[in-house]
Amino acid sequence: MIVEKLAIHGGKPVLEPGMGVFEWPVTTLSMQAAVIQQLATTLSIRDRSGVFREFEDAFAQYHARRYSLLSNSGTSAIMSMFEGIQIGPGDQVIAPAYGFHASVSPAVYMGADVVFADIDEQGGLSAEWAMSLVGENTKAIVVSHLWGLPTTETFAIAEQCARKGIYLFEDCSHAHGATLHGSLVGSIGTAAAWSLQGQKIVSGGEGGILLTDDESIFERAVLQGHYNRRTRDEISRSSPLWNYHETGLGLKLRAHPLAIAIALEQFGHLDAFLHQKRLFAQLVVEGLREYEFLRLPDIDGMIPSWYALPLRFDARAAGRLTREDFVAALRAEGLSEVDVPAATGVIADLPLFSAPEKVLGRRRVTGRPASTPSNLPVARAYAAEIIKIPVWAFAQDEAVVQAYVVGIRKVADHVARWGSL
Ligand SMILES: *Cc1c(COP(=O)(O)O)cnc(C)c1O
Repeated sequence: MIVEKLAIHGGKPVLEPGMGVFEWPVTTLSMQAAVIQQLATTLSIRDRSGVFREFEDAFAQYHARRYSLLSNSGTSAIMSMFEGIQIGPGDQVIAPAYGFHASVSPAVYMGADVVFADIDEQGGLSAEWAMSLVGENTKAIVVSHLWGLPTTETFAIAEQCARKGIYLFEDCSHAHGATLHGSLVGSIGTAAAWSLQGQKIVSGGEGGILLTDDESIFERAVLQGHYNRRTRDEISRSSPLWNYHETGLGLKLRAHPLAIAIALEQFGHLDAFLHQKRLFAQLVVEGLREYEFLRLPDIDGMIPSWYALPLRFDARAAGRLTREDFVAALRAEGLSEVDVPAATGVIADLPLFSAPEKVLGRRRVTGRPASTPSNLPVARAYAAEIIKIPVWAFAQDEAVVQAYVVGIRKVADHVARWGSL
């Protein structure tokens, strides 16, 4: 084993400063053309026409789902799923303790209680934990396919939800185009939501979309996010909701046409992005397989979208080294995108969930905090161990991906040899 001097010890970094940056979305000429074209068409779409119809139809068709509704953000799309089942005070939602808060925070805003279940070793909601928390008020379970790795037990959870009359919602914001046992994520639960925010694989800068086959969820979601035109056109005249078409429910969550024009152009490249990401992820996985202290995701039965590649740093196998020192050494090598996730973590601890009554006041009429089991061993271990690296999506980034593998191997070889840096 040739052991080179590490950059933290004054050695030459693998990548020069500014070289290994992950830019997303990548602005292309065809993206610019889509914006210019939309600019010349309209900047506000009040019904389901134009670029909204194109995106909604294409996205629904891709997932073989019946109803499709764009909104101004992924968070709004998630809120609309909850509105679709009229979630409110007295209802309970079960969600994974590890993840991004917006998978479930709208339910708290709407007055429901959230109960957090532990995750499995892969980072997704544990079916056994989730089911053990089901009570008479449980109305929905949320799974989030974090980093683009489908929640391993989604089908088991779906089956039990169906048996118990509970809705299953999927947050697919990291997982555009990922599959589990041959099914696209977002086609398994009762309804699903995707973010189209700037960092997401299909991006319009800001935006979100909901898909479902359930007409009543769709109509309520339309009524919550729209008024006048879309409500009049898309809520059945026979529905009691139709009376409210002029006002909706008092909100407006409509998307911006420029954002959706960008997202539509990007969606056209999704399969190409995914193909390239899968090749690069494989390259990284093969390059790091030999290091016992770096645990790679188990992707048996799934094709991830590789929003990011999560590595678990196993401190017991790494001798005296901490995760933070390991990451610092990688960054010194110029691997500036190697990261310990900050906005994603054990969300059960956040004040919105542990003390919602203090900020939401009378909207929390039950007066109860969203209960939080203090014992979430797998989620806490996962949060303490995870290191995330981006997965590039363009063939011309191969040299950067190779440099990341070389850089990680350079530092990892020191660790494997000396148990320290
Ligand atoms: C980004 C994201 C959201 C929220 O989407 P916005 O479009 O930013 O509102 C929800 N869940 C997950 C997992 C996300 O990554």
